[in-house]
Amino acid sequence: MRILVASRNAKKLEEMQRILREHLTEVEVLGLDDVAPYDEPVEDQPTFEGNALLKARAGVASSGLPTLADDSGLCVDALNGMPGVLSARWSGPPKSDDRNNELLLAQLSDVPDERRTAHFACAVALVLPDGTVRVVHGRMDGRIVREVRGGGGFGYDVLFEADDMPGVTTAELTPDDKDAISHRGKALRQIAPVVADLLR
Ligand code: IMP
Repeated sequence: MRILVASRNAKKLEEMQRILREHLTEVEVLGLDDVAPYDEPVEDQPTFEGNALLKARAGVASSGLPTLADDSGLCVDALNGMPGVLSARWSGPPKSDDRNNELLLAQLSDVPDERRTAHFACAVALVLPDGTVRVVHGRMDGRIVREVRGGGGFGYDVLFEADDMPGVTTAELTPDDKDAISHRGKALRQIAPVVADLLR
């Protein structure tokens, strides 16, 4: 049994493959580099779910394989939920985590500690060649710190302290600790048994 994970973000793909392989021991988890290249869709939907579905549908249409896709982002309360679906390209092209983090810090420079709350959100879509669709969601609550810390994870992890592991950023957690509390870990642990069931 094989499944495609349709993500170009190498760090995100690594997290997804790590979590899925642990929970789907009999399924071979492929990435986009393992299948023939295809035109990947522009992520132009207003919701994480809409973008995850776009990516999963494009993957299944091209590869013919059951396809999983994640769309995720950081929602900052003091920014009315932004950057949200624009998280990856918040500071404009070309995509840069460092510039995104600098911009976020500058935007929140006058925001006091008690109003620096935020959450990561993710939608994971599964689309099968027969058209079956499943979508699950995950969320990790926390706050934005005042300077970057840590060398793990990716994206905004260097600026985010999770409520479940206060005092360290999610970039300072071990991969296993991040997976245990992360939006992506929660969503993938929900979808893994569904994948196993549907592919049986
Ligand atoms: P996507 O590839 O369009 O879903 O973009 C997701 C973006 O959201 C990433 O580029 C990061 O900026 C941010 N993001 C999502 N999940 C995480 C995470 O687990 N840690 C840090 N940043 C994340």
